[in-house]
Order: sequence, then structure tokens, then C-alpha cells
Amino acid sequence: MLQRTLLAAALAAFVMVPVGHAYVPVSSDLGPAKAYPSWPVLTAEMSALASEFKDIARLHSAGVSSKGMDLWYMEIADFENPDRIPLSAREVVYIDGGTHANEYIGVIFVMHVLRTLLRGYGSDETATWIVENRHTIILPLVNPDGSVNGVGRLNGNLVNINRNYPVGWGDVNELPVVNNPGPHPASESETRAVMGVWERYDPDYVASIHCCGNLWLYPYGMEGRDPHPDDHAVFERICDEVLADVRDSCGPIWSTIYPASGTTTDTGYELFGANSWGFEMSGRERSGFVWGPPVYTTPIEELEKESWRAIFHAFLNVEKYGAHPVAEVASVANGALTLVVRNDGWGNLSRGAIEVVDRAGMVRTARLPALAAGDETRVTIQGSFGAGEFPVQLSYQKRPLDAKIGVTNLALLVTSTASGLSASLASAAGGLPLSPASVSPESEGEPASASVPGFEAFAALAAVGVALLAARRRRPGF
Ligand SMILES: [Zn+2]
Repeated sequence: MLQRTLLAAALAAFVMVPVGHAYVPVSSDLGPAKAYPSWPVLTAEMSALASEFKDIARLHSAGVSSKGMDLWYMEIADFENPDRIPLSAREVVYIDGGTHANEYIGVIFVMHVLRTLLRGYGSDETATWIVENRHTIILPLVNPDGSVNGVGRLNGNLVNINRNYPVGWGDVNELPVVNNPGPHPASESETRAVMGVWERYDPDYVASIHCCGNLWLYPYGMEGRDPHPDDHAVFERICDEVLADVRDSCGPIWSTIYPASGTTTDTGYELFGANSWGFEMSGRERSGFVWGPPVYTTPIEELEKESWRAIFHAFLNVEKYGAHPVAEVASVANGALTLVVRNDGWGNLSRGAIEVVDRAGMVRTARLPALAAGDETRVTIQGSFGAGEFPVQLSYQKRPLDAKIGVTNLALLVTSTASGLSASLASAAGGLPLSPASVSPESEGEPASASVPGFEAFAALAAVGVALLAARRRRPGF
């Protein structure tokens, strides 16, 4: 790999020079299909970024194309921060480009998101928050074969990867020359490479970037097929609120652009449960190139302002693209704890639970009722709650098609005041008790017991929750 990287860097130095906001081909024999993204240039740039930002960027290969070129992707988080939020507790955002390699601006857009996060870390508030709070996966060029074979829409086997994914494979009868779905679902190494990345990271959000309809597309590609009603409401709300100025250009693939089967978007949604999109860049400033400009003068965030806004809304709000319960304390009285739980997600909550360890070291559990987006409920948990600190865990199913359970760890702090008990759910100074023995000695309920099933794991989780709260920075506005 090293040899290949060095070769790529050498090649890049000869064939491309960065000018302003674009890479301009300087060799006259490079046609538009080879201008950008060229695999050697992309390889050199991603290698350089991974070296420059080694604390927050890890370069991996997802696999190789049908012609043997690596599908590079960057994994982004504050890996070296000793106080980091565990990666397993974060929402995972996945973005790819270049499934159609001739749609240049798609790859350029994705690379610009990548550079913005890496270069902005530590100085830009939004980029810093994303690096510290999300686990981001960026794969800029899904189809490197297409960047060199002169037919950028197809891979080295002349298959359209965006028709090769398993969900709905072959359902829509399309022009085979440009939309060859391949001999069978996921027959192409590129398709399997992307799905392998999804298997590994289990993304909460998927965006696959194309050009040039200026459209924002959610499942499905198959005519008349809709997402689960709860997810459908979330997709529609994103169209309504995040893309209000281009509302008519946001909708299901089949009715907003055209019916298509075997797409990245549909498989990302149905098989992996992500809030999954296909974005069509505007292609503004293209001239002479049908599929978006390889050379442009306006900064990307302005040139593709709607998509930029949608991607960063996802970075900052992805946990709301589904069910997302939040809790506050109503009261602690007569040993019982009463919480108010509100679903601040944009999706309905159907399966949720609360677990709290009380003063006796017992894990007390309450099931949450179904809560529509924005609704709240009052939950009373009987036990032995009084002055002290108690770990609280909210668990919930994030989205209907995703088996992954969301977990929020909190610290309940109860203090005695002249007028009675005062309680709050917040980051508690000094952390949480790690074992039943450290629970307040005035416990008057059942005897503390280390044999409560799952207690130690839960208490350890709760301790992580405190670190989590302490490490979390204020979320920047967007
Ligand atoms: Zn495309």
C-alpha cells in the first residue's frame, strides 16, 4: 500500500495542480472523465490529510474496485483525546461520493466536508463539536474505475453501482447501457466494500452524493413503495424544515427524480436502518461539463448551499432523526422517583425503558409508553430514593428498521434542603458510585447487593455517562 501511495503522490504532482477552489488538470490528454476525481490525486490528498491530522483522522481501504484500486475512506473522531466520548456512544454519520465518478462535484463536495472537519478542528466551533461528538465516515470515491475508464457512471465491469445494491435489485427495468444492475445483487466489489463499511460502523445517517439535479432523495426508488410510516414522517420533516426553500425538490427517489432500483440509499435504509439519502448536487458553475464542474470559483458551501446545510444539520441533529427520549426530574418523595420523559426526536418512540440504581443498590426498571414525536409522559419508579447520587439510563429503539438500541446515561443528584429533597438530572461533581458499598450509608431499603444482575456493568456504564456529560461541549447552532 505504501508503494502505491508514493506512486500516487508522484503521479499527482505531475498531473494536477490545486488552483483556488479546484484541481485543474494540466495535462492535455486528460478528458473531463479523468479531470477530477482522479484516483492518484485523491489517494495522495487523503494520505496527506491522514498524516497531517493523525490524532483525528484514520485512513482505511474499504476494499478494491473491479480493477484493483482502493476505495479509501476516512474515519474521523478525537481518537487521542483521553476524555473522549466512547465511539460506541456516538451517532455515526456516513457520507460517500463518486458512485458515479463523472459527477465531479459530488466527490469535490465530499472532500470539502472532510477537509472542513479536519482543518476546522480546534478552531471552528462546529467542526470541533462534530469531531468530538460524532463518529464520521467519509468515502469520497466509491467508483475509482469510473474516474479513469471514460464512462464514469459505470465501474470496470460496466455496472452501475447505484443499481447493484440488494434492496429492490433489478425491480425497475431501466436502460441497460447506463444502468446495468450487474449479474446479481451486490455482484460488484465496490457495492460489497460500501456494505462492509456499513456492517462495521452501523451508520445512523447515510448520504450518497451525486449530481446534478439539485434534489434531496429518500427511499424508495421503487414506484409506490414508502418507508415505514414513522421514518417517512422524519424524512418529510427534514424536507419541510431543513430544505424548506427547495421543498419541491425533496422527496422519495421514485417520484422526485425517477424510479430506480438497487440504490445505495434504499439499502442503507432498509438493510442497515439508517436515515438514508441520495443528494443530487446543483452542478452550478458547470460549463462545458455536463455532470458538474471540476473547476469552480464559488466556495463549495455557497455553491451547494442547500446540500451543505442538510449535511451539517445531520451532523448536529442526527439523534433527532428518530426517537430520542430526554428526561428531567419531577420529584423524589416517599422513596419514589418521578421523571418527566419527553420524546424530542422527530420519530415516534415505541420501545423505551428507564433503569435507575436506588440507594439499596437495586436496579429499578420502568417501561416507557409509546410517545409520538414531541410528546411527554410522567413515569414513577418505586424504590428507595433519597439524598445521594444515582445512575440513570434511558434506552430506546432509535428507528423502526434499526435493531440498534440508543442509550443515554445520566446522573440523578438528590440533596436534602430545609424544605425537603431537591433533585436534578445533571453531571454530578465527583462522579457516581461505582459499587453498591459506596451508596449513601443511610440506605433504608433492601440491603445493598452486588448480586443484582447486570449491576456492575450498568454502574460502570453509568460512570461512563458522567464522563460523557462532563466531556460534552455546548452544541453550536447551525
Ligand atoms: Zn449519479
